Amino acid sequence: MKWQYFYVLPILILGLGRVQPVQGLEIQWYGQAAFLFKSDNGIKLITDPYQPDGFGEKFRYSAIKDSADIITVSHEHADHNGVSSISGNPLILRSLGTQTVKNILITGIVSNHDKAGGTLRGKNTIYCFTIDKLRICHLGDLGEIPNAKKIREIQKEGPFDILLAPVGAVYTLEPDEMKSVIQQLNPRVVIPMHYKTAKMDLPLLPVEKFLTGQKNVTRLKASTWRITRKTLPAEKVILVLDPSN
Ligand SMILES: [Zn+2]
Repeated sequence: MKWQYFYVLPILILGLGRVQPVQGLEIQWYGQAAFLFKSDNGIKLITDPYQPDGFGEKFRYSAIKDSADIITVSHEHADHNGVSSISGNPLILRSLGTQTVKNILITGIVSNHDKAGGTLRGKNTIYCFTIDKLRICHLGDLGEIPNAKKIREIQKEGPFDILLAPVGAVYTLEPDEMKSVIQQLNPRVVIPMHYKTAKMDLPLLPVEKFLTGQKNVTRLKASTWRITRKTLPAEKVILVLDPSN
């Protein structure tokens, strides 16, 4: 090896290390309706963490052992309110209205978990938040078809770059109903959640029922997706993640 390489190679390697900074918003799907959003500067928001032992053998997603700054809970069911395994003394949001927490603007919008005005399964909070200039909406266990007024209320928090939508039906909207809600909310990226996977045997539909006949479906074959405003897909896309837990 020529002597120059001894100087040039380490400089090149160090240089490459510097030109690849970790950038953008990191989105990780743990399973069910639980996601981690980690901002470019390290602020962590977790949505709807499940209780890993909330349904016995039927629910095999492992405990979420991350820390968080903020947790959102859409409603008080065991697959959405398992806040106790999460460290970091997070602020836990179970509320409606708009607030800014650690530079993240968050709005909670009331909806129903069923088509009977919430009398069967209670209320559900839809959380819309802006992180790293990306507008995100997490529908929780939306179980009613939102009326035009409700759609406008949600749309006011958009236009959405990313929508987390429950597609497994049974406890939430049927796939075709959810498709119509998605069409009205018109996000750039839809990430399906709350459906049957190999890790759980609750009576939900698999994601395929929702994907049938849809265009622009991307299966990431990973649990984590990194995104910035600049790298948002130009066309609308349905992005299927694998659960990490
Ligand atoms: Zn649920």
